Amino acid sequence: MRWRLKSAEELPPLAEAQRERYARQIMQAELGELGQRRLAAATALVSRHGGLGGPAALSLAMAGIGKLILVHPGRLVQPALNRMNLMSEAGLGQGHSTQAAETLKRCRADLVVEPHDCAVNDLENLNEIVAGCDVVVSAAPTFEERRCLHQACLRTRTPMVEAAMSGYSALLFTILPGETACLQCAFPDDGGWEEPFPVLGAVAHALGAMAALEAVHLLTDAPQLAGTLLLWDAKKMTMTRVALRRDPQCPACGGLD
Ligand SMILES: [Zn+2]
Repeated sequence: MRWRLKSAEELPPLAEAQRERYARQIMQAELGELGQRRLAAATALVSRHGGLGGPAALSLAMAGIGKLILVHPGRLVQPALNRMNLMSEAGLGQGHSTQAAETLKRCRADLVVEPHDCAVNDLENLNEIVAGCDVVVSAAPTFEERRCLHQACLRTRTPMVEAAMSGYSALLFTILPGETACLQCAFPDDGGWEEPFPVLGAVAHALGAMAALEAVHLLTDAPQLAGTLLLWDAKKMTMTRVALRRDPQCPACGGLD
């Protein structure tokens, strides 16, 4: 297992401007100055930053994460504008990641952003990129991309926050490779999930923010959904936690420790 919190000795101190900017979250005892230093030293990859991953990337940027790697294929089209909060009408026809990087840099000039206008499964050096991350947020609408990213996380022992939604149904959990249930343990079948599926921006945004919050927990203290599936019924406004069991015979993570 690769996931561990960095000690104070391994982290650079905060600059005065960082202390001032993040004062309201540093005052939260569970996070504190040490947590803020951990965030500032952390790198996260966000796979697709549309309605779901966009708010996750924005929340991580605003929280003061050091570096974001953005991966999203294709060019912006009109029907995406009901939910993609890092995009604008002016960006129609342009690449998603380039545009998202510009939006985030306008919010936070000192954020390091690495945009890739392609899908994770098109990245030749995906394993190398994921190995350099402290956490990965999986928010793609296709199983192909999720499985590919998941494999890279298992290979490199990188923690992965898995967030998915369709209509008013949403789920969130964290995978610590070799320690907790992996994506394959939790969902052995792809379940016939097909595009296009319904998306209301507010549902995707709320789940994206929760994914970022779980990533912040993981980077600064301890993940709260490692091996626990959070199910959110956004219509009834109810949440349920379900324990996930690791399958010792799992073809994906069975041999990992
Ligand atoms: Zn597994």
